[in-house]
Amino acid sequence: PSRDAVSYFGAGPAPLPTPVLEEASKVLLNYHDSGIGITEISHRSPEANAILAHTQSSLRKLLDIPESDGPEGYQILFLQGGGSGEFSAVVYHMVSVWLGALAKKRQQGLDQEAARLRLDYLVTGSWSLKASQEAARLVGAEHVNGVTDARKHRDGKFGLIPPPDTWTQTKTNDDVALTYYCDNETVDGVEFPSPPSGQNLVADMSSNFLSRPVDIRRHAAIFGGAQKNVGTTGITIAIVSNSILPPHAEMADPTLLRKLGLPVGPVVLDWPTIAKNNSLYNTLPIFDVWIAGQVMQRLLDQSPVEKSPRIAEQEAESNKKSQMLYSVLDGHSDVYNVVPDKSVRSRMNICFRVKGGDAEAEKAFLKGAEGKGLMGLKGHRSVGGIRISNYNAVAVAAAEKLARYMEEFAGERKA
Ligand code: PLP
Repeated sequence: PSRDAVSYFGAGPAPLPTPVLEEASKVLLNYHDSGIGITEISHRSPEANAILAHTQSSLRKLLDIPESDGPEGYQILFLQGGGSGEFSAVVYHMVSVWLGALAKKRQQGLDQEAARLRLDYLVTGSWSLKASQEAARLVGAEHVNGVTDARKHRDGKFGLIPPPDTWTQTKTNDDVALTYYCDNETVDGVEFPSPPSGQNLVADMSSNFLSRPVDIRRHAAIFGGAQKNVGTTGITIAIVSNSILPPHAEMADPTLLRKLGLPVGPVVLDWPTIAKNNSLYNTLPIFDVWIAGQVMQRLLDQSPVEKSPRIAEQEAESNKKSQMLYSVLDGHSDVYNVVPDKSVRSRMNICFRVKGGDAEAEKAFLKGAEGKGLMGLKGHRSVGGIRISNYNAVAVAAAEKLARYMEEFAGERKA
């Protein structure tokens, strides 16, 4: 089929807006009439620096990210290694910050103190589970506190965010190196309505980045792979508070970390190193940064300058599309069952079953959808069912077409 005949609702890599793809194909060949393609220019060239600066400043405007050298400012970093790489990076970094602060206060008995290290993880779906498992692999399971495990509240399956009064957050603030949550669980279709509270809050926003305003100031760090809502696979964005970076925070010496049995990470994941080098410590895939900048520029262009944060317009569109799709599902609850609890339904990944998970009915749903050019609707292999990924590049018209198909399918099933 031709590109126009297909509406793609896959979980990612997500589609990009067509004008961005068209421009991308031009710059791959010849970047701004330089005679050289964008993937051939040096990441240290003035052109690459301009691309980097544009993408950073666009993101700042979209999410209202504080810019200052003081502890209240935030750095925008581009890394490689994907969202999964950051599962490790956050542990290396936050443990080093935690130990650095401790070592500054006292030099004696640090091994006893280190035994009290706690990393708090809110496990609300497959991705926060994976992140917590990586933390346990790096520092030992005894240091990882599962603040909540949503499966325990729902027949062993994900699909809700247990109420905060059931959480077991580590009490003494000083001991909590981080409080980790995944803002949107891509596989399970669970999204936090608002950020949880917690000391040294770290969020994975891989699958809902740039879909709504974010209270940046409440977070120590936010990260996300670019491939869902921001651009192409290959870069990961981290928004990191200056308060946890040198010179405002003291990092633990690697020798001390090793002595206490705590991990020392690879330099390419080391936030202070990446921040100090403005993301140019090693070769940065500048094409991916350019793509992200173009996507961001489009979001800025569609949003009135007086609106702050500038992402508000995109939030309205995301809400409109997801509400429309959920309302079809709710309107035919005898045919469709939304998997997660109503209070935590994701606007980005809409997970549901057909006839309670009837394999034949789900197959028929997918086949009928594909016949209409509605692609990428199969749920994640670990959970099955249907998943509509409603990322920014999914046009309202595509969501409407899908909603019509879902109405039709339900009508036929009931007939
Ligand atoms: N976090 C979330 C919420 C995701 O959806 C994904 C991937 O789908 C990841 C992390 C892992 O990202 P990556 O594949 O870039 O390592």
